[in-house]
Amino acid sequence: MIVTRFAPSPTGYLHLGHALAALVAHDAAQAGGGRFLLRIEDLDVARAREEFVRAIEEDLHWLGLAWEQPVMRQSARSPAYRAALDRLAARELLYPCFCTRAEIALEIARASEAPHGPDGPLYPGTCRSLNPRERERRMAAGHPYALRFDSVAAARLLPELTFCDKGESGEETRMTRVDPLLFGDAVLARKETPAAYHLAVVVDDAEQNVTLVTRGQDLLPATHFQRILQTLLGLPEPHYAHHHLVTNAVGVKLSKRDGALSLRALRAGGHSAVEVRDLALQSYSQGL
Ligand code: GLU
Repeated sequence: MIVTRFAPSPTGYLHLGHALAALVAHDAAQAGGGRFLLRIEDLDVARAREEFVRAIEEDLHWLGLAWEQPVMRQSARSPAYRAALDRLAARELLYPCFCTRAEIALEIARASEAPHGPDGPLYPGTCRSLNPRERERRMAAGHPYALRFDSVAAARLLPELTFCDKGESGEETRMTRVDPLLFGDAVLARKETPAAYHLAVVVDDAEQNVTLVTRGQDLLPATHFQRILQTLLGLPEPHYAHHHLVTNAVGVKLSKRDGALSLRALRAGGHSAVEVRDLALQSYSQGL
């Protein structure tokens, strides 16, 4: 059975791009007689707001979508993320990183070459080679640290990985080879964040038995890293379908700052749910 999910972060109102993502997931499940789930990705405590959770549910109902209850909330999932981190730590794939942002920036500026990943320059690996005694000393002294993924150690352990991208229509089957070093030594947890996005997503997709991850092409790089984490954690492999992005009138991917294309603004402007569904699916965003 096909199981899909829509996984918004409640940090603003949903816009036409979210409507497309929700519809793609919903329709893929419905076409296959499957299940459609909603997951609230509210790990960013500084930005997530209850008001936006309510607005997401309201907007999705207005669009005519229905999903299974209960809705998973990432803020309630810390023990599951902790268990996944422990599994990676047991395989020596995590290390504490004590660098501040300023120290990382300085190190990168000094390096003769600074490899870039999808989110900017990669962490130069400074704390990867810290000796165990120094690590313990700093931890005991209460220095704040993040837990980083040891991509070099992981690349040595991993077989060659691929993922199956079913494309926009959900019908192609393109096998993409995973780039094991794409995100470098990414942060997987911090004191105030029990899990970074990539870790939380793979743990939750597995917990919810998601079989088809549908999301925008902007998250295509993320799929490389998420396949790696799934493999190392022994989690099942879903299929993927990356859809096009809705752009604004100047061709830039919509963001929560494009208030005029929020579902609420469209509704207030007199557009019906059917019109908005059609607009999202055709990605026609000009002249609104
Ligand atoms: N929460 C992510 C976002 O709002 C989506 C995560 C996903 O679909 O994997 O961009």
